[in-house]
Amino acid sequence: MRNESNGDGGSEPARASPMIAQYQALKQAHPEALLFFRMGDFYELFFADAVAAAPALDIALTKRGRHAGEDIPMCGVPVHSAELYLHRLIRKGFKVAICEQLEDPAEARRRGGKTLVRRDVVRIVTPGTLTEDGLLEARQSNWLVAVAMVAGELGLARVDISTGAFLTEPVARAMLAAGLARLAAGEILVPQKLLAEQAEAWREAAGTVTPLADASFDSGLAERRLRKAFGVATLDGLGAFGRAEVAAAGALLGYLELTQKGLLPRLDRPRRVEPDTVMLIDPATRRNLELHDSLGGTREGSLLAALDRTVSSAGGRLLAERLAAPLTRPEAIRARLDEVESFVEAGERCGDVRAVLRRCPDLGRALARLALGRGGPRDLLAVTAGLEVAAHLRALIAPEPALGRIAGALPHLDALAERLRRSLEDEAPLLARDGGFIRAGLQVGLDELRQLRDQSRRHVAALEERYRRETAIPSLKIRHNNLLGYYIEVTATHAARVPPAYVQRQSMAGATRYSTQELAELESRIASAADRALALELELFEELRRLVLADGEAVAATAAGLAELDLAAALATLAVEQRYRRPHVDESGAFAIRGGRHPVVEQALTRTSQSFVGNDCDLGGAGALWLLTGPNMAGKSTFLRQNALIAIMAQMGSFVPATAAHIGIVDRLFSRVGAADDLARGRSTFMVEMVETAGILNLAGPRSLVILDELGRGTATYDGLSLAWAVVEHLHEVNRCRGLFATHFHELTALAAKLPRLACHTMRVKEWKKEVVFLHEVAPGTADRSYGIHVARLAGLPERVLRRAATVLKRLEEGEAGSAPSRLADDLPLFAAMLAEPPSEPESPRISAVERILAATDPDELTARAALELVYRLKKCLVDAEGEGQMDA
Ligand code: ATP
Repeated sequence: MRNESNGDGGSEPARASPMIAQYQALKQAHPEALLFFRMGDFYELFFADAVAAAPALDIALTKRGRHAGEDIPMCGVPVHSAELYLHRLIRKGFKVAICEQLEDPAEARRRGGKTLVRRDVVRIVTPGTLTEDGLLEARQSNWLVAVAMVAGELGLARVDISTGAFLTEPVARAMLAAGLARLAAGEILVPQKLLAEQAEAWREAAGTVTPLADASFDSGLAERRLRKAFGVATLDGLGAFGRAEVAAAGALLGYLELTQKGLLPRLDRPRRVEPDTVMLIDPATRRNLELHDSLGGTREGSLLAALDRTVSSAGGRLLAERLAAPLTRPEAIRARLDEVESFVEAGERCGDVRAVLRRCPDLGRALARLALGRGGPRDLLAVTAGLEVAAHLRALIAPEPALGRIAGALPHLDALAERLRRSLEDEAPLLARDGGFIRAGLQVGLDELRQLRDQSRRHVAALEERYRRETAIPSLKIRHNNLLGYYIEVTATHAARVPPAYVQRQSMAGATRYSTQELAELESRIASAADRALALELELFEELRRLVLADGEAVAATAAGLAELDLAAALATLAVEQRYRRPHVDESGAFAIRGGRHPVVEQALTRTSQSFVGNDCDLGGAGALWLLTGPNMAGKSTFLRQNALIAIMAQMGSFVPATAAHIGIVDRLFSRVGAADDLARGRSTFMVEMVETAGILNLAGPRSLVILDELGRGTATYDGLSLAWAVVEHLHEVNRCRGLFATHFHELTALAAKLPRLACHTMRVKEWKKEVVFLHEVAPGTADRSYGIHVARLAGLPERVLRRAATVLKRLEEGEAGSAPSRLADDLPLFAAMLAEPPSEPESPRISAVERILAATDPDELTARAALELVYRLKKCLVDAEGEGQMDA
């Protein structure tokens, strides 16, 4: 039942009622969002909003009164479970304006009989401005990104208001899509003028795109906003930002003011990500290498899932971020590796640190909610526990020199932690208005009020006892509900014994409810004590909240430090568990991996007790470009990907799956692997392949690493071969990058004679008893065949198709050797001969031969000797047929 006691006088009249007028004014001010219009215990949606939201939420669309001669469509969600519905709407790309009642309906009534409750929008919930745990992914940052253009330069700024992180960076036009892919934003603010110009980048990006007027990106306005937000006279004190970055950052602040209705969340001072300090990985490469999600779209099967040993949400978020943005400065990478190594060497102490971190709540997000006035007692408890964990860890890691930086960054907030702990009960409700979270004994006044409240409750029990005695009604009860408050209930059988002083309040089927003067007084004493106690608790909550926010920067620094500790300890745990080694990273052009493994495939094989064969890769110096040939299923793709993943892992500051690794910084990583069409964008499989290849050839430089798997297989054989040929030449001569190129075009290996830095390698296989055994070993050399038909047999293609394919292959190979045609189709005699053959052999010819002989035989006519000869003949038939089959295979 909906509580209609909202001061709006229940159901609305047919004309535009005052309430509908109020609704329409608010809706007009927020046309881009669904309006959640608070009415008592519900948020109601009307008109087009209701029509859009009801199916999205899978709730009933009803109607409420009429407007302009039409029924008003309506649907609604209960306030207490609104978060659940918000979650669904935000995920479906809606924005929601939350309109609250700003006064008690009773207050409105006092102002005049039919006066409307005052209402206003208090917040617009958008995908990039979430703070509630229920709306956020625990292990994923939620970036609100803005892109601005000033004087032809692009700048990017981002905030995560759930933690306060605030960063900016310049971005080249060609790199915009890659930059956005790295951030996987929840929402991107885009000036109108860039909407069409960068349409491709917005389409590639993950988040909701919110276009804003160009004026919102004015850099002068932005500077003023930033100066005001951070209380500085000039931005120089914050860092050397480009004008486009400032404009983007200003647009973010403006949007936050708009959506948070003037409340600015706690934000770190903006920090600039210097250009070229992060490895550039374009969106296709991220997808193909399955860094954060598998190709199936799940976290399972991704590199992130394989590497994640963090024990806190903040640690998990930091891992995801570092994986998205490997560094390009060796000293910064080495500093991270030192921390991991320190935990590897710390042995048991690493386990101790992790055990303490496991108790660490999401300090950063709790702080963000408290700052925005959306926090509750549990958030204060989270801050308390986080600060205590930090104090504990500071002592634990103090002896580790490499962890000094992190230990030093954990501020001393012991007094705050102690004050909070002393003030709060160990268990607390989510919402402050539920009360009961301030520790008993903290404040005499509060204790007295609570005592009074509880005593009065005991008085109610005593009164009930007395009334039973006085009336001699043993079943008389004193109860409480929200409508009547306290009342006396007497069953119909005892109605005659009810004293005249009892005032009847409500008649029920089998009972009647009464009140008395005494009970009413008692009730008011209880209510006032409870109200006063709650008011005091709320005051104390505010005081504690202010205390925490006064130390907001230090609390945020603690949260960041704890996340770093968690990540370093988690990477160390992973390294020990998976036998990873510390990579050597420097500015050289080296890429020398010994015994490299694929981190995800290896863990999958381990689960089924199989082992992964490690392989070397050396792209430094003479053999910068490897041409890898080998049978299907031999492990070419795995080898290509593992080397790209090792580069990413090393540069994000992790140990790597190899026995040794020396990596000269990779500034850009490109991969073109796998094939998928993109029909939504009107691109066929081959078109996607060519678009990705074009990107690589245009952008790869001498420090880049390029992984190309089976380029040119989506078109006619000779077209593909020609393209692959030209691409290898271009990478070698023009891009001059390090690269791995896997192919079934064995002809390409001839290029090694011409291109000095091209080295041919192959996946080794062994033929044993007519079977092919994959050794998964990479060795110098060239494969002479692909064993495609063998793999097709493993896959279960019908034997008949396999035999026919073998015959065709044999004929083609003979033809090729004999006449070396420039196009297969030009070899007309060969094709003519094959076309003249039946499309495939008749079903089991050897059986047919045997059948033919048997059909022509009359057993009754056979002598013993003739029967023996027949058996020999039949046997020979089978042997002949088998011989033919083997030759074909
Ligand atoms: P294709 O040419 O058909 O695409 P491929 O040569 O690229 O095949 P992969 O897909 O890399 O082959 O590998 C096939 C399977 O072989 C993998 O799924 C994995 O299970 C196994 N494999 C690959 N490399 C190794 C290795 N080094 N050690 C153990 N198993 C491996």
